[in-house]
Amino acid sequence: MTEKTTPAAAATPAAFSSRPLRVAIVGAGPAGVYAADILTKAERDFEVAIDLFDRYPAPYGLIRYGVAPDHPRIKGIVKALHKVLDRGDIRFFGNVDYGTDLDLEELRVHYDAVIFATGAINDADLNIPGIELQGSHGAADFVSWFDGHPDVPRTWPLEATQVAVIGNGNVALDVARMLSKHAEDLLVTEIPENVYRGLAESPVTDVHVFGRRGPAQVKFTPLELRELSHSRDVDIVLYPEDFEFDAASDALIKSNNQVKTMVSTLTNWLIEQEEREERGEAGGRASRRLHLHFLHSPVEIAGADGKVDGIRFERQELDGTGQARGTGELVDYPVQAVYRAVGYFGSALQDVEYDGRTGTIPNDGGKVLDGSGTQVPGLYATGWIKRGPVGLIGHTKGDAAETIAHLLADLAGLPVAANPAPDAVTGLLDSKGVEYTSWEGWLALDAHEQALGAAAAPAPTREGPVPRERVKVVERAQMVAVSRTADEAARSRA
Ligand SMILES: Cc1cc2nc3c(=O)[nH]c(=O)nc-3n(C[C@H](O)[C@H](O)[C@H](O)COP(=O)(O)OP(=O)(O)OC[C@H]3O[C@@H](n4cnc5c(N)ncnc54)[C@H](O)[C@@H]3O)c2cc1C
Repeated sequence: MTEKTTPAAAATPAAFSSRPLRVAIVGAGPAGVYAADILTKAERDFEVAIDLFDRYPAPYGLIRYGVAPDHPRIKGIVKALHKVLDRGDIRFFGNVDYGTDLDLEELRVHYDAVIFATGAINDADLNIPGIELQGSHGAADFVSWFDGHPDVPRTWPLEATQVAVIGNGNVALDVARMLSKHAEDLLVTEIPENVYRGLAESPVTDVHVFGRRGPAQVKFTPLELRELSHSRDVDIVLYPEDFEFDAASDALIKSNNQVKTMVSTLTNWLIEQEEREERGEAGGRASRRLHLHFLHSPVEIAGADGKVDGIRFERQELDGTGQARGTGELVDYPVQAVYRAVGYFGSALQDVEYDGRTGTIPNDGGKVLDGSGTQVPGLYATGWIKRGPVGLIGHTKGDAAETIAHLLADLAGLPVAANPAPDAVTGLLDSKGVEYTSWEGWLALDAHEQALGAAAAPAPTREGPVPRERVKVVERAQMVAVSRTADEAARSRA
């Protein structure tokens, strides 16, 4: 993890020479955990005490509730975050919602600084006619369902045989892959039982992914794109007329290795497809197809009886600068479900300024600003709520380093907490009847989920049956019960 490279704090104010600097971090996703880690390791001549709050009973934010279950390598990043929280110098309080269970005034009483790392969980809007029809979904809602988010319904309507996914980023690929994969091929992952059962009954045959620009302008990453070809019994289908490259595309392919790799992956797939067609092998190879369309801009979702029954696009062409412009040609696709994967969006937080255009907290390098653009003493932001919902987990580390550097530079001006005793905040939560969970509680829930995996029937794979690593607990009440039972047992032993 992070080495001791963060800039040293400015001269230590008197308050923090006699007691630790107390910092609350709201949000235990990667940004919050990295911020805690960087602060504890920063060069300083005073102690710090960090409490990390999350509205979920479990830590890790979108790694648990965003990253697709068939991405075990990425899910594995939690091992590094686990090490940070397992050291014992950072307290974790799960099942605590800022704005409901604790407000800013209360945090101010107990902490000298508050860092918001609340990320994003909602879908960005796509304003086209028909978006409200039954069968039109936000990708984030579907992701929350398949990742076993505690606060979304347990069932998902998977009745469509043909599906459109709008968007050309990794989330669009996750959604398309999860919709098109055969459910039994996901059993090896941590998917909850209700998700497996839902996907197993899906009658889907064709998933169409639509991007507005050309193959050189996609926002995928190479690994995620290549992964599409690994799904069993799912053919990738491409359309030669979509392979348009303007001068800007050519320049990008030459200058950017990532774009070059993706364009060559897509072009090779197209060549292989054309060769198969020449040999008369096209069609009927797989029971499901994943179509990748480019240069399509959504115009309208069509419906009958309030339900999606098609989608209309305007074909686009590249304008020489890599931008797309409409050609006036309209194309219709018969689909019974539409997923918009056009971005996530951060939510407003109580008593903190919010920029509704970007879904972020207005900030200057992580220093929270008020409505007039003036820094609010003692308040900071990091991760997606600071920068907007783009970028990989690793990028939140840089965010956190910048935010913590500013916090340390501001040390002398922090509003000193009136009641910094470590027990004061637990007393407050207890007095409010908040059923918070702890790190020990998470360890118990983590072990419980792994035990459920070990007890489940092994997953069928090409290499034979494989024991399941984990089965996720979905119900919030059950997550809290498992965590708190372990906590209470530990308290009564102490
Ligand atoms: C579908 C999807 C797939 C992705 N796949 C990958 C991938 O494969 N590889 C990769 O590197 N990156 C991936 N990412 C990106 C990665 O998830 C983000 O970069 C990262 O999670 C952002 O971290 P964060 O801590 O800012 O936000 P989050 O991970 O969203 O964490 C925020 C935390 O704050 C908590 N919170 C929010 N509001 C409150 C409140 N009021 N009170 C208390 N707690 C609160 C939330 O519960 C959450 O735990 C993916 C993202 C999505 C959406």
